[in-house]
Amino acid sequence: MGIFTKFQKGFQKGAVVLHDAFSKISSRSKIGEEDLSFIEEALFQADFGVETTEEIIGRIIEENKSNSNFQSEDATQLAREVIKKILTGCEANLSFSENSKPQVICLIGVNGSGKTTTSAKLGYQINAQGKKVLLGACDTFRAAATEQLRAWADRLELECVFGHHGADSASVAFDAYTAGLARGSDLVIIDTAGRLHNKQNLMDELSKLKRVLRKKDGGAPHHSWLVVDGSTGMNGLEQAKIFNEKFGLTGLIVTKLDGTSKGGVLVSIYRELKLPIFYLGLGENPDDLQSFSIEYYLDSVLPLSAVVD
Ligand code: GDP
Repeated sequence: MGIFTKFQKGFQKGAVVLHDAFSKISSRSKIGEEDLSFIEEALFQADFGVETTEEIIGRIIEENKSNSNFQSEDATQLAREVIKKILTGCEANLSFSENSKPQVICLIGVNGSGKTTTSAKLGYQINAQGKKVLLGACDTFRAAATEQLRAWADRLELECVFGHHGADSASVAFDAYTAGLARGSDLVIIDTAGRLHNKQNLMDELSKLKRVLRKKDGGAPHHSWLVVDGSTGMNGLEQAKIFNEKFGLTGLIVTKLDGTSKGGVLVSIYRELKLPIFYLGLGENPDDLQSFSIEYYLDSVLPLSAVVD
């Protein structure tokens, strides 16, 4: 399946909701109150959040008033423009420097958001680019997390450092970094514990992990990426705010965009926190982790002409 097709499938649910609302008005030459409320409702449903929704509605009202040639089809174009402007600058790619080796990425997020799976997928992708990757199984809290990551590492032929269940996750991170340095790894990916994002002990554990890494390399972790389940809707924004405040995030990965996600939450998170979007999880296979593309995103969620089934 091509990458754009994966985007289309990933964002299909949001696309259908929006398409239904925008197509209701497509036969009208002027947009009325009821049409606006269809669109507003659809944008909320697709998780675009209050500010973005209001901005889009505001632009439509403005254009509808000031432009006598305004066609209802233009509403889709306006929504695309607003979203494109909000997302400008969000596309991010990982780069490597010989001066800071190994680079460390911590994957942070609540339980079940996809951190362990994403650690493996990310390791696989970077390894396929010719970089040496080591995984650190630092989620020592969730019973199966270490076994899960080790199984992925075996399958994908990636190196993995792990501790026993209940071990101090900071010491596993320390061991992973030490091993990565000794073995000449380009990248160490640290899979952290989730629990509840508002639990103080998790935040303390994450802070300790960061402190311990910093003792080895003052710049580590070089990246702290939030892994957020795209299907949890606006809850993802709350998670992002809390982890950002407590841990300091530098990027975003949105997972499970192959199921029930409506896709707007990534706009809400970027709008609020300006966290660069490094990857999307568009399926369960290792190569289903894809770089984000604004163009593909817009053409999937708000296509201009294509019919969404
Ligand atoms: P963690 O608790 O954050 O480490 O979450 P896991 O990596 O264990 O993922 C939780 C569940 O979500 C697992 O069953 C994964 O297979 C599944 N999962 C993770 N990423 C994706 C994705 O992009 N798409 C789908 N469909 N499932 C995913």
